[in-house]
Amino acid sequence: MSVLKSFIAGQWVGEQAAKALPSAVNGEIVAHTHDDTLDFKDAVEYGRKVGGKNLMAMDFQERALALKAMAMYLQEHKKELYALSMHTGASKGDNGIDIDGGFGTLFSYASMGRRELPSGNVLHEGPVVPLGKNNHFAGTHIMVPRGGVAVHIDAYNFPVWGMLEKFAPTFLAGMPSIVKPATSTCYVTELAVRLMQESGALPEGSLQLIIGSTGDLFEHLEEQDVVTFTGSAATARKLRNHPNIINRSIPFNAEADSLNSAILAPDVTPEHEEFDIFVKEVGREMTAKAGQKCTAIRRVMVPRDQVEAVCDKLKERLSKVTVGDPSVEGVRMGALASIDQLEDVKANIQELLKTSELVVGGDDNFKPTGEGTENGAFIEPHLLLCRNPESGCGAHDIEAFGPVATVIPYDTIEDALALSAKGRGSLVTTLTTRDPAIAGKIVPALAAYHGRLHLLNAEAAKESTGHGSPLPMLKHGGPGRAGGGEELGGIRAVHHYLQRTSIQGSPTMLAAVTGEYVRGAELIEYDVHPFRRHFEDLQINESLLTHRRTVTEADIVNFGCLSGDHFYMHFDELAARESQFGKRIAHGYFVLSAAAGLFVSPGEGPVLANYGLDTLRFIEPVAPGDTIRARLTCKRKIDQGRTSPDGHPQGVVVWDVQVHNQNDEMVASYDILTLVAKKPE
Ligand code: NDP
Repeated sequence: MSVLKSFIAGQWVGEQAAKALPSAVNGEIVAHTHDDTLDFKDAVEYGRKVGGKNLMAMDFQERALALKAMAMYLQEHKKELYALSMHTGASKGDNGIDIDGGFGTLFSYASMGRRELPSGNVLHEGPVVPLGKNNHFAGTHIMVPRGGVAVHIDAYNFPVWGMLEKFAPTFLAGMPSIVKPATSTCYVTELAVRLMQESGALPEGSLQLIIGSTGDLFEHLEEQDVVTFTGSAATARKLRNHPNIINRSIPFNAEADSLNSAILAPDVTPEHEEFDIFVKEVGREMTAKAGQKCTAIRRVMVPRDQVEAVCDKLKERLSKVTVGDPSVEGVRMGALASIDQLEDVKANIQELLKTSELVVGGDDNFKPTGEGTENGAFIEPHLLLCRNPESGCGAHDIEAFGPVATVIPYDTIEDALALSAKGRGSLVTTLTTRDPAIAGKIVPALAAYHGRLHLLNAEAAKESTGHGSPLPMLKHGGPGRAGGGEELGGIRAVHHYLQRTSIQGSPTMLAAVTGEYVRGAELIEYDVHPFRRHFEDLQINESLLTHRRTVTEADIVNFGCLSGDHFYMHFDELAARESQFGKRIAHGYFVLSAAAGLFVSPGEGPVLANYGLDTLRFIEPVAPGDTIRARLTCKRKIDQGRTSPDGHPQGVVVWDVQVHNQNDEMVASYDILTLVAKKPE
């Protein structure tokens, strides 16, 4: 008899069998939870002390690399996860969403971390704000890892993605995680955690797993900890009101029920390609994961005169969906996650039918495909129609967490907006329209009630990732009934596990704290040109003040001829005289090029490439006769563990460049980005 184990304080715990977990496909027992008591006080202390310490021994960049290594290891073991996950009722396509989607999220956070986070464990969130007249006192913000543990409680529908989408930003931020999957599908999460441990990429203490109840865990949480939750609104309410969460102001992020909608705009009629695209999207959302997606479409709003056409098309589409054992060839939709869920969905359909009629489903002869499926948690797609939403519509309140959606007619697009808002806050709505003016008009109003809006037309449909797919780089989570939380959204999600603190002090102090040059900080100047120094030797604040150059009319003419830029401000004396500058001025890009000529050290050296510039501003004009000089200062160093194509290690160095004129006025300001070689070993 297989007993699942928790992974607590570095040990796999669980000998005695407790609850039997049946397969959603054939009712056979897949595994048991364990009955062994877990010491949650020990777990959180171990997480903070061992996990926190080990994670802090790495920096943002190293953790990003570890995430990537873990994702690669998991990918090699994908088949094991696929095989086990079949028992949750998931089809191959569903596994793609949960398992590959989870790995994709890890890869995505690994690459965002490498691109957007610094070396070290202090994230500087500028800009620096001068607070005194003479730049002796300034302020800025930093973000640092919270010193506690992150408790992640997940729903049963995504045993892999649900865990990984929370774990990835937490790990990147440098916080240890304690994950608690929903019991009914926790055997898949247990296997994923085993593989993550086996990957060797996880520092000790950075991930713990709870199988079964959270016991007295919440009693042991402290101010530096964080809780995130996905599941029902009722549990979210209960947990966020736990006295310890309230008394200690522990951040609680919830993602709960959501009555997402799809709106067919009045400009789309059956002869348009968008009409079929809309129907396809609704059909797909109803059947993917057997409708057990927090983002699935529950309410389908269509112009009143299109109701019959939409229902007919959906009926045709849904009738082709074969429901049954996902391992059987040709099966398109699997089972719900458990018999309990099946009962729940059936009860909710009955509630919905009090204000709606049935268009598809309710077939007494329904029989899922495959052997042994009579004991599984199968249900066929159910499409309902609420003809008179004005006199009440249960679909605005009842979430049947299965392949169930209700068509709701509307008269004007404003009515559709009002109906959508009756969901009291949703994760996502798809608006299908051909008319950009309709999108421009209603999206701002819709946005107030949503976490994400998916605008669908024939062009977008060619590449759309779909209504129901939260993406790592875009926000997931919605207001109101949807829980009021935020997940994903790129590096924003990492911020949930960091503490933002404003710092005030002299520029030199701010540079020391942020690990970045801050203008006004004390400079370090050597006889050796900074471009002649290797990555390891360069210091933040290391600076070079160049010689001067007087700009001539010949410079302007030569630059104009070379670049082909004969803009009147540089070449038309009369027009330039009447301009705001009152005279001809040099090209901004000439100033930029001339500055490079001033600060570059031409000989072969450790600086390998200039790959761009950021935050460029031309501040004052430069005219013939003006004399410019540049200051180049090492602003930021990022060690991404990169190597050149021939295998030589290198790092990223960002340089602050300021160009001044003879009156000490700044004429140009920007950052340049370079790759700098490390020392030969
Ligand atoms: P629950 O809210 O019951 O459970 C969600 C998670 O919370 C599970 O891990 C569960 O663990 C855990 N949990 C439940 N009670 C407690 C508690 N007192 N202390 C700590 N953890 C607790 O949701 P279900 O999974 O049962 O789903 C119910 C409904 O929620 C669905 O039918 C659907 O309407 C909605 N839902 C919404 C989702 C979304 O993403 N928005 C996703 C999934 C469901 P355990 O399983 O051990 O009880």
